[in-house]
Amino acid sequence: MTEYFALVPAAGSGSRMGGELPKQYLPLAGQPMIYHALATLCACADISTVFVVLSPDDAQFHQYDWSDFGDKLQPLYCGGVTRAESVMNGLMAAELEPDDWVLVHDAARPCLTQAQLARLIAELCEDTVGGILAVPVADTLKRANAAQRVAHTEDREGLWQAQTPQMFRTGLLLQALATAPKVTDEASAVEALGLHPKLVESETTNFKVTYPQDIKLAELLLTEKMHGRSGN
Ligand code: C5P
Repeated sequence: MTEYFALVPAAGSGSRMGGELPKQYLPLAGQPMIYHALATLCACADISTVFVVLSPDDAQFHQYDWSDFGDKLQPLYCGGVTRAESVMNGLMAAELEPDDWVLVHDAARPCLTQAQLARLIAELCEDTVGGILAVPVADTLKRANAAQRVAHTEDREGLWQAQTPQMFRTGLLLQALATAPKVTDEASAVEALGLHPKLVESETTNFKVTYPQDIKLAELLLTEKMHGRSGN
């Protein structure tokens, strides 16, 4: 039977946040940031195991208490220099079947909800390619010139912002990443094979914590969720 697995690359240094502590461990709503995404993935009954890919010299992970997640959470100390390399190394270490679905999710997207996750799985479980959560672009987009002035306005019609999880069959994803190792997300590697991943509409709340000001917003959303006001 085809199974579903989650894989969370968490071997980055998070340099855009500044500071010493890697982004995934910054304190957020009483836990290290990565805890929140792992909690959502581990609580999903469809997912068998949640793999978290750590840097081989990660000295933080074991300092926290992960007992809430039991055996469902499996750390793999095989992160690479790039996100794509971390995903590739993790997939190989996890020893999944080629037909198994894998949902790759950023450690830095702590506000993913069960509803978004359920929608992704429901819309893609019969799909031949796989796909990603994404939101249509809402802002008008400006292309900058070298002087940081507007060169022109981009047409935003049909543009979507890619999020995670990104859900593909393990065999296809390994083939794609081996062919296109310089990508910033899994879908780009699959696209490089000439395939067209499906865009499953998500919400802007599943944003990636990138800059210091993102922490405050994530904190608000997670605190609301913990008090049961969001319904997921
Ligand atoms: O740096 P950025 O926010 O794009 O990273 C996205 C995700 O990829 C994060 O969860 C980060 O920890 C992970 N990553 C990784 N290995 C790297 C670089 C990034 O697992 N070498």
